[in-house]
Amino acid sequence: MSNKYDVVVIGAGPAGYVAAIRCAQLGFKTACVEKWRDDKGNAVYGGTCLNVGCIPSKALLDSSHKYVEARKDFATHGISTGDVTIDVPAMIARKAKIVGQLTQGVKSLFSANKVEGIAGFGKLLPGKRVQVTKQDGSTEEISADNIILAAGSVPINIPPTPIDNETIVDSTGALEFSSVPKRLGVIGAGVIGLELGSVWSRLGAEVTVLEAMEAFLPAVDTQIAKEAQKILTKQGLNIKLGAKVTGSKINKGKTKSVTVSYTDANGPQEATFDKLIVAVGRRPLTENLLDPAAGVELDKRGFVIVNDSCATAVPGVYAAGDIVRGPMLAHKGMEEGVMVAERIAGKKTQVNYSLVPFVIYTHPEIAWVGKTEQQLQQEGREYNVGTFPFSINGRAMAANDTEGMVKILADAKTDRVLGCHIIGPSAADLVQQMVIAMEFSASAEDVGLTMFSHPALSEAIHEAALAANGHAVHMVNKRKR
Ligand code: FAD
Ligand code: NAD
Repeated sequence: MSNKYDVVVIGAGPAGYVAAIRCAQLGFKTACVEKWRDDKGNAVYGGTCLNVGCIPSKALLDSSHKYVEARKDFATHGISTGDVTIDVPAMIARKAKIVGQLTQGVKSLFSANKVEGIAGFGKLLPGKRVQVTKQDGSTEEISADNIILAAGSVPINIPPTPIDNETIVDSTGALEFSSVPKRLGVIGAGVIGLELGSVWSRLGAEVTVLEAMEAFLPAVDTQIAKEAQKILTKQGLNIKLGAKVTGSKINKGKTKSVTVSYTDANGPQEATFDKLIVAVGRRPLTENLLDPAAGVELDKRGFVIVNDSCATAVPGVYAAGDIVRGPMLAHKGMEEGVMVAERIAGKKTQVNYSLVPFVIYTHPEIAWVGKTEQQLQQEGREYNVGTFPFSINGRAMAANDTEGMVKILADAKTDRVLGCHIIGPSAADLVQQMVIAMEFSASAEDVGLTMFSHPALSEAIHEAALAANGHAVHMVNKRKR
């Protein structure tokens, strides 16, 4: 094996493995260094997303949703099931099987594309050299014309609630409970808190979410966030806003529990839980990644400093994914991975950071792209709003899944769509239609003039676009035209 490559990627998460595959497709001799190992010491590819993130959390969200449907919804369709029970270990095993299939899939893609996977911990040295530390502690040095740093992120820990991986867990531990905790505490009403809180609440846990901020989902369009808070509370999540956690105490009895102290508007409070999930955000993983002499700099929050095309200040050294600025999302990292590979090949590929879609996979799902109404108001822009509720969408009614709405914001003068906000069934897939429309600078009229299949959930998008100009057909328009 020669130790000189065209490209070496450090990290095989969505940013790194996609970058490596695209580099190899473009004809570069590519290696990808990955530290994640299975029980047998073999490298595992796919990073946080495939192993302990997007995929396992969605597997549990889907399983737990089916459980709720079987218990609460089937009867509406005239289907009786008798007693519905859950087998948590079977649910967790199904999740593990999907994870295994997908991580194995990346391995196959590496070999099909001739990406050389190297098991070990990578550290960037000066002169575009990488030191790889193997499982047995031995080291090897490789070098490349181009290096892509894609080491990803890890959960943030907070001093009042140290993770013991038994009673107090982070998102990874929350994917592995062997039974449903009776009382579950969640710190942080962000994406992970709401998704994993929903999983265990659906399976029967009493879930309390402690959120430090006074506002619920402040990044989400306020109308949609209010609707989400109402629906999730109705589903059983006890969301306490303005709750600042100050400490925790493990109670050692027959079964362990944890008492969390926090302060809110009413003063000091305490709550006891059988399990506690800490989900207060993630931080870039850069420990031991960079020899200071390599010249790559970090910002105050620890992110690798890059420009719009993910180049660091060191020629030939790039960084992509959670390790750099911007939302920590798998799809953002994957697009950056492609962009970096293509830039190395001399192309001018550029990620459109203004059209990153966001999704929270609760039920109903919450998904959006572009500006919120509050952002447009702050910018002093004039806009039209069109909304359409799923309660009067034929397909949603047929499916008995009618909560939520589509909201479209369009420029008042040019009619160009500026934002799309959805809470509703399959919102993740629906919003993608507007991402494409917005990539092509569509106006609300363009979307309104497009033919949508009937009956379909996406007709709510069609009607919301028509409503932005006051001529929705299947409801009475607030704005006449
Ligand atoms: P990572 O996926 O973190 O991969 C980095 C890789 O680099 C890892 O495999 C790591 O082992 C390796 N590595 C690190 N340092 C070194 C080193 N020095 N040498 C060798 N290897 C190294 N995002 C979404 O878009 N949609 C979702 O639904 C979603 N759900 C999530 C659910 C949960 C519970 C969590 C925790 C995250 C979720 N995310 C989701 C976020 C998503 O997982 C991340 O944004 C994404 O994985 C980031 O990709 P990445 O390649 O930058 O980093
Ligand atoms: P987050 O930033 O979404 O939410 C963290 C929440 O914790 C915030 O609301 C914050 O105000 C609160 N918080 C912070 N410190 C606190 C404290 N001391 N006490 C109480 N509350 C506190 O982070 P997350 O939910 O941990 O997710 C991490 C990252 O993973 C996110 O950036 C997200 O993009 C990504 N992720 C994405 C998806 C998805 O796309 N569906 C799913 C899961 C995770």
